[in-house]
Amino acid sequence: MRIFKEKEKMTSYLNSCRKNKTIGFVPTMGAIHSGHLKLIATSLKECDITICSIFVNPTQFNNTNDFKTYPKTLNSDLLKLRKINCDIVYTPEISDLYKKNEPIKKFNFSTLTKNMEGKFRPGHFNGVATIIEKFFHIIAPSKAFFGQKDLQQLQVIKQLTTKIKSKTKIIGVATVREKNGLAKSSRNELLSKKEKRSAAIIYNCLKYCQKNKRKKITDLASYVKLKFAKKEEIKLEYLEFISLNNMQPINEWGEKGNNAICIAAHINKVRLIDNIIL
Ligand code: AMP
Repeated sequence: MRIFKEKEKMTSYLNSCRKNKTIGFVPTMGAIHSGHLKLIATSLKECDITICSIFVNPTQFNNTNDFKTYPKTLNSDLLKLRKINCDIVYTPEISDLYKKNEPIKKFNFSTLTKNMEGKFRPGHFNGVATIIEKFFHIIAPSKAFFGQKDLQQLQVIKQLTTKIKSKTKIIGVATVREKNGLAKSSRNELLSKKEKRSAAIIYNCLKYCQKNKRKKITDLASYVKLKFAKKEEIKLEYLEFISLNNMQPINEWGEKGNNAICIAAHINKVRLIDNIIL
């Protein structure tokens, strides 16, 4: 496994070995867990060379405390990536990717970013798109792998590739969960065992809606809101029933596979998101 901190060294190595090979790219912010490893394993299966980046991108954080407390575990991350046989790891400093005082690019993703993360994390998707565009220019991957856990991000990245005329194929990978259903997340590191148990309510509610899809959306929404209201330690930020095409709210189910239920919740200052596609 080759590790690079500087983009010039990384691209020069990549150019020396990429001829006639497919490049798979997995961008991460580190604190590597089995969700990230599933993306890497998928890339290793589908591509000749797999690159994982570890970079806590400052421009996508709308909350400085969240940025400051974001877990950083580079040494154990590298051990996990070596164990899975990742080919290249790119761990740049901020200055390798951003000029001093560089303004964040503004994108228009139309309805995709109107709700949910776009609404509650102003500027978040401009930051995400800015960094992914930079990565795609530097690496020019054949395929890039993103988790369905960040469903709105996945849809935004798909639209971004069209906008910037990138040839990179975007692959969505199913969410990896803890035994109790809680979606794996680097932020889970910040939860106690008890809080992790409480956080299982998120997936339990999503599964309830899946099982009771015949019920009206308004009834399901009331059920979920009531469940959350009864749990003091966890605060529901949003619950949205949306259409995958445009990420807009729905009142009735659309075509199978084109509906999603998305939840964001706070538990002791930790923000968790999850979703289910129906
Ligand atoms: P992050 O490090 O949180 O920015 O995540 C890097 C990539 O891993 C993103 O594409 C995420 O959607 C994906 N990811 C995060 N958690 C999971 C999970 N539990 N299952 C599958 N993919 C995930």
